[in-house]
Amino acid sequence: MTSQEIKNLTDDYIMPTYGRFPVVIDHGQGARVYSPEGQEYIDFSSGIGVNSLGYGNQKWLDAIVKQAGKLGHISNLFYTEPAARLAAILCQRTGMSNVFFANGGGEANEGVIKLARKYSFDKYGAGRGSIISLRNSFHGRTITTLKATGQEVFHNYFFPFTEGFFYAEANDINSILEADDLAEREADYFGKDEGVGGNICAVLIELIQGEGGVLPLERDYVNKLAALCAERDWLLLVDEVQTGIGRTGSLFAFQRYNIQPDVVSFAKGIAGGLPMSGFLANEKCKNILTPGTHATTFGGNPVCAAAGLAVQEILSDEFLLEVQWKGQYLREQIESLNLPCLGKTRGMGLMIGIEVKDGYSNKSLASQLIENGLLVLTAGSGLRLLPPLAITKEEIDAGVAIMKKVLI
Ligand SMILES: *Cc1c(COP(=O)(O)O)cnc(C)c1O
Repeated sequence: MTSQEIKNLTDDYIMPTYGRFPVVIDHGQGARVYSPEGQEYIDFSSGIGVNSLGYGNQKWLDAIVKQAGKLGHISNLFYTEPAARLAAILCQRTGMSNVFFANGGGEANEGVIKLARKYSFDKYGAGRGSIISLRNSFHGRTITTLKATGQEVFHNYFFPFTEGFFYAEANDINSILEADDLAEREADYFGKDEGVGGNICAVLIELIQGEGGVLPLERDYVNKLAALCAERDWLLLVDEVQTGIGRTGSLFAFQRYNIQPDVVSFAKGIAGGLPMSGFLANEKCKNILTPGTHATTFGGNPVCAAAGLAVQEILSDEFLLEVQWKGQYLREQIESLNLPCLGKTRGMGLMIGIEVKDGYSNKSLASQLIENGLLVLTAGSGLRLLPPLAITKEEIDAGVAIMKKVLI
């Protein structure tokens, strides 16, 4: 089919929930993707941080084909090897104790929230099920994870939302204490039955707010928050759906912050392009979700898990160190262009935000770049780059050359 035919069919038969760029992607190789007509694009987006190995990685492809030929799916009523091995590797590389596998980021965060509430219910009974999340965060599109998302624009249309979420400003411990006070006052006022949130049981954070604009939390704040959570027996829940699986130059961003969360979710990059997600729990939280309390049909699917194993094999410690170097190199290249529309860069590893100067629109800059052969993302009011972790220096240079040519 031609690009135009594919666009028409999409518009006729797929719900109009996405503001798409007028580009059809047909295939890819390395960090390059191509339209059906052969138009080439350098990919600084990785399908929103998913295709960490780029396109056409032979190891990944072989693992998928082999597993699909053996067993495509069987359900969690039975044991399978790929999920078991992937779970073991993730725990060994993080110091966490066990894993629940799911399918998408929002679904993983739902499970994290359920775990936190059940931890508290088991230990303290009802009336302590509220969670503090941060303003400007993003945690997903389900009814509950929309409510966990600390941006008012998302709390619309779909009432009634889930009870028991309170919001704090990022990098401000006092704001956490204020949210706790507010939860306490509401709990006193409404009573502490199971229908209301009640007191706080957990704090949910992204270490680098991704959709919010690639905004890293301050190290000192994160350490203080971790200490406060430990003191109050609030679970520290870290949403690493975007920052996880090597994106920031370590397997998880929490490893670069020197903290150990109680529960950490992952998704986007875990299987290098197949739909998979999950969350890791520490020793304290490993037996909270018991038979009958949580499940998902596709969770730990053997093909996705085999892809995840291939990703883990490639993401060695040396590879992750290279992610740090490549991120630094890309940021230096962009900053040295001194483009009038762009300000400073920020982020960690290959999760990069670029400030867009006043008077310029990030959406129209992104459109211009995409039109001219460079796929980029926006976040907050800036640009966001999430290139494949396996991108080469040559591919980085080719992408930067397009920025230089287009954004003069
Ligand atoms: C993308 C994202 C989600 C949502 O993941 P889906 O797979 O789209 O449900 C949740 N949290 C963060 C931090 C994300 O970046």
